[in-house]
Amino acid sequence: MSETVEKPPAVPKSAKTPTEDGLIDPFGRRISYLRVSVTDRCDLRCVYCMPERMEFLPRKEVLSLEELERLIRAFMRRGVRKVRLTGGEPLVRKGIFTVIDSLGEAVRRGELDEVTLTTNATRLEEFAPRLASAGIKRINVSLDTLDPDRFERITRRRKLDDVLKGIDAAQRQGIAIKINAVAMKDENAREIPAMIAWAHERDIDVTLIEIMPLGDVDQDRMDQYLPLTQMRDDLEHRWTLTPLGLRTGGPARYVRVEETGGVVGLISPLTNNFCDDCNRVRLTCTGQLYMCLGQDDNADFRSIMRAGADDAALDHAIEAAITRKPKGHDFEIRERGAAPAVSRRMSATGG
Ligand code: SAM
Ligand code: SF4
Repeated sequence: MSETVEKPPAVPKSAKTPTEDGLIDPFGRRISYLRVSVTDRCDLRCVYCMPERMEFLPRKEVLSLEELERLIRAFMRRGVRKVRLTGGEPLVRKGIFTVIDSLGEAVRRGELDEVTLTTNATRLEEFAPRLASAGIKRINVSLDTLDPDRFERITRRRKLDDVLKGIDAAQRQGIAIKINAVAMKDENAREIPAMIAWAHERDIDVTLIEIMPLGDVDQDRMDQYLPLTQMRDDLEHRWTLTPLGLRTGGPARYVRVEETGGVVGLISPLTNNFCDDCNRVRLTCTGQLYMCLGQDDNADFRSIMRAGADDAALDHAIEAAITRKPKGHDFEIRERGAAPAVSRRMSATGG
């Protein structure tokens, strides 16, 4: 990818200066949540996320830690109150703790409500104490199975043991864990109820995710896709599910499993529309801001920053990008062999 260097955008005289009302999109939704992919690299190769032979980006295309932090701070100035670091695998990015520590400090000073991360947990055992001392209170761990062979089939790596040790280590540090599991037909679908029971016993809530058609991988989406409506029916045969009113401004809907006392979230972008109360935008590790996970439109903040934009220009560019946030996504798994709805992978946009 060649780098285009643009002039920093001029700040029009009429541009709003940062105000208390924060970022409001054209549909009246307040944007208070920024998800940041801090690297495209990963030590796993999940079949729904990446091909086995993955080509990662050259270093100069990826935002430096300083650029990442400067951009996150700009969003905080404009009213973002929650930041989630993701990837790729955030814990494989060298030096990421400078960002984590600094955002943790921002939470302590009341400049942010929460900083959190989504991780595959392979390195969590090593990093849990540092996360806890940075002030991280809860994290999402992606885990689709408790079976070592199935884990290896899904992630193409034999690391289930490391993940389980990582979860234990984080819990020992008092960090709350939520597990995200991608539901896959013919793979983990039958195991999911047992996984939920295992997690609830450990005080861990589980969110099930439908496969989303993001980027080309080596397998056909139709072979992987399992509608969560079907999964929910299965769970309902087994347990009493009480819908919870809990809404987080995201795509998940939640139920309590009365028999276990735990919570299950269901993220169904394909069978449910979740856009009405969307409060988030996503920043890639190359500085592209995606106003919607399911659309290709983006704003290139790397070019803006590398062209020398000052803070006022950056703030204005953020305002301008938010005016382009669409009403909803375009996901659909149409037919066998169909092209993905959007061309980039989840590891690029950050899950
Ligand atoms: N590496 C970290 C991890 O796995 O937690 C963070 C990044 S990963 C891209 C974030 C989440 O996206 C994971 O929970 C993963 O299961 C999910 N994911 C990746 N590709 C997906 C796809 N095509 N459809 C649905 N979920 C996907
Ligand atoms: Fe890596 Fe997360 Fe993608 Fe799996 S889902 S390959 S762990 S980035």
